[in-house]
Formats: sequence, C-alpha cells, structure tokens
Amino acid sequence: MKTHLFTAICMFFIAFVFTACDTPTKPDKPNFIIIFADDLGYGDIGVFGHPSIRTPNLDKMAVEGQKWTNFYVAAPVCTPSRAGLLTGRLPIRSGMCSDKRRVLFPDSNGGLPPSELTIARLLQGNGYKTAAIGKWHLGHLSPHLPTDHGFDSYFGIPYSNDMDRIKSLPGGSSISDQITFAEEEDFMAYNVPIMRDKEIVERPADQRTLTRRYTEETVAKIKEMKDSPFFIYLAHSLPHIPLFRDEAFKDVSLGGIYGDVIEEIDWSTGQILETLRKEGLAENTLVVFTSDNGPWHIFNTHGGTAGMLNGAKGGTFEGGMRVPAIFWWPGTLRQDVVMDMATTMDLLPTLCKLSGAKLPDDRVYDGYDLTALLKGAGKSERDYVMYYWGEKVYAIRKGDYKVHFYTQNEYGRNTAHSYRNPEIDLKNTRTEMEPPLLYNVNVDPSEKFNVAADHPEIIEEMRAILENHLKGIIPVENQLVK
Ligand code: MG
Repeated sequence: MKTHLFTAICMFFIAFVFTACDTPTKPDKPNFIIIFADDLGYGDIGVFGHPSIRTPNLDKMAVEGQKWTNFYVAAPVCTPSRAGLLTGRLPIRSGMCSDKRRVLFPDSNGGLPPSELTIARLLQGNGYKTAAIGKWHLGHLSPHLPTDHGFDSYFGIPYSNDMDRIKSLPGGSSISDQITFAEEEDFMAYNVPIMRDKEIVERPADQRTLTRRYTEETVAKIKEMKDSPFFIYLAHSLPHIPLFRDEAFKDVSLGGIYGDVIEEIDWSTGQILETLRKEGLAENTLVVFTSDNGPWHIFNTHGGTAGMLNGAKGGTFEGGMRVPAIFWWPGTLRQDVVMDMATTMDLLPTLCKLSGAKLPDDRVYDGYDLTALLKGAGKSERDYVMYYWGEKVYAIRKGDYKVHFYTQNEYGRNTAHSYRNPEIDLKNTRTEMEPPLLYNVNVDPSEKFNVAADHPEIIEEMRAILENHLKGIIPVENQLVK
C-alpha cells in the first residue's frame, strides 16, 4: 500500500514538472500590430453595417475581440492623422497640421520632427523589433522617414498614391477625372515610388499589387521578428483614390471596384491573423484595425461611406473623424462592443503601458491608456474629443454632446451624401457659428437635430474647455509649409 502511495506521489510530481516545463510561459511583452486603412469610412465594412461589401475576416475579428463605435482620429486628413497616432499628441503640437497646406506633398521639405517620439521609438528603446509597412506621409526626406523614427525597416510608398501625377498621360488633369481613372495600366500615370528603408526600389509603384505586397511583407516580418517582442505598423495605401486591386480581387464584390479594394484589405487582415495563429503568437499579440479619416465623398462610387454618420474626409462632422475600430487579442481582451470615446492618440500610452515602456514626462500627451477598457476592467479616462481642421478647433465632444464652433464644406461636398439639416448652409471657407450648433451624438449620431437653444449651459461649458485647451498649445514651426 505504502509502495503504491509512494509511486503515485512520484508520478504526480513528475507529471507536474513536465507540465510546468511544457506550458510556455506567456512572455512579459506582447506584440503589437496596427493596421491603418486610408480613407476607409465608418460604414465601409460588414460589421459596421455595409450591406454589399463582404468582410468576413474583419467581422470575425470584431466578434472575437472588441468593436469600438466611438473611436476617433486626430484629424480628418492623412498627414496630421498619422502624426497623431504615432506620437500620441495632437498634430498642432508637432507642427504637423496647417491651414495653408492640408497634408505633405512631394515638394514638401518638412516632416515629423526628430524631437517627436513615435510609438516605434519608445518600443524600440524597450527591446522591441519594429517595422513600418505601407503609406508613410510624415515626410519623404531624412530625417523624417520611418527608419529615422524608430522603425528598424520600412517598405511602402512615402506619400499618397494620387501624388506625383504625370499630367501628360491619359486621365485628364483635374482631380475629378480620377474617378474613372483607375484601371489596368493607369498606375503608370502616378509616379509614386516604393521605398525600402531609405532607397527607392520601384517607380512608378505598381499600385495593383500594393495591398498584396504589403500583406506578404507583414507576414514575412512576423516570422522574422517573432523571437523578440515586435511592433508592426501596417498603413495600407488604399482605399484612397485612385483605386487598384490585385487581379484576384477584380470584380469580386457586389460593392463595385471600391468593394473589391475593401475585400482585398479584409483578405489581408485574415492572412495576418492566420499567420499569428499558426506561429503560436495569437494570444500574445494585440492587433488593432482602424482608418486614418472618413470617406472621400467627392469621388462618388470610388469613395466610401460613413454609414449613418454625417460628413466625410476633410470635415469635422462625425463622418470625417469617427472611424471603424477593432481590437483583437484572444484570451486577454474581453469580447465586447465598446462605446466609450477613444482616439488613435490613445494607442501610444496604451502600448507603452502594456509593454512596460515608460511614457516620457517631458511633453504633453493627448492620449489615455485604454488597458482597463480592453480588459473589461474599467471606464475611459477621456473626457472630451477635439475636432481640429488644420490649426483650428472646429468642434468639441464631451459625453453625449458635440458643439460646432465653426463649420466648413468638406472638399467640395456632394450634398447627395448629406444627412445634414438643410438649414445649415456650409461654406467653402471657415464659418463661425453664432450661436454654435449642438448635437446629442449618442441620441442623434447623424447630427440632424440642433439642440443649441435647449442647452446654452452646455455651450458655455464647451467654450471654457476650448479656452483652457488653447492656453496649453505652444506655437511650433509648421512642417507642412516648409
Ligand atoms: Mg486618409
């Protein structure tokens, strides 16, 4: 009897030791992948309500993780929006927004200043390997390139895919001609380069292959960097016009060419999540999918949709700055639909917290750590969202309410897309609203019913928030007009 008991104890001990050795301990530092689409609207994917664009991978990602319905960008156009995400700071603080030139262009000399600390820089200093893939648009000259800003490697186009236009080629010279200008060999009309690190490796970029090649690069980087913690910033060039997709995605979507492009991005996301699963990294990797600004309505069926939200790219109504957002991290995130307010500027403090990197205390941050929300263990610390257009605050949201101090037409808005109350006559220049417009954007997300007359006290509170905010803005050199 005693022998049996002794044997059983020994076997239990041996089994315990083997089990302990077999179970991989979860590494301290999770991996991070941020997937940032370009000009993809709030209503452009299945799980956010599109009825004819099929996005099964993004839909599944949202069900397995978290779908965020009140998620904002730092600005309604590319360059400042990207600066906000990567620095955790409003673009006005780094000189990366302008009323004169809205974004960086191929003739720009400026870019994200070396004094700015990106997510990549902070993680790199904390033992992470880092890679930037896709559209950069924060300066195409050193010292503004990804590898100057904490990324170990870079592969992608340095600015928008509609820039460097060769006007002598077919397609016309006005921007609206580009609507019908996105088929077959038309990429030759855009002399956009592809860079690897700091070298141009292809020009013009074959834009039909960009989404596929960015995906292949991301999969390769996951495999290459998996033995240490890693951060990948995958900024798709599309669905920014002109639209291109791989041969395999031609005419696959009920949603036309725009749908084809989104379905290829959905495929890409599926490939990335599948790679993480196969490599045994899924439970140690936070993946975030979102977009840099709202849809570009002036391109009609070549632009997307903000769904039930009013407005579009280049504007401060909800459709310009509220974007779809999905967070995925199996086993760590609480599966949920999150309706708290958050922004892309919250990613930097969140990733610092999750990785153990210290948040610098020598500068102002405009983001908040989202860890408690991701784990279902608390509320958002964010009290309000600022809607900047260029260097000016046009609107503020606090809780349910959003006030518009200024309005402006969004890049030649097509009123056919508008849900707006027709009494609001949008001008092509900045117009001060006196009294300001006020909407309850939870009850009325389409911003149709102005309730300013009912709540003068809320408008006064918002004015005080604005005044206080502006006191903290220190003028810096503008990078977009250099
Ligand atoms: Mg954009």
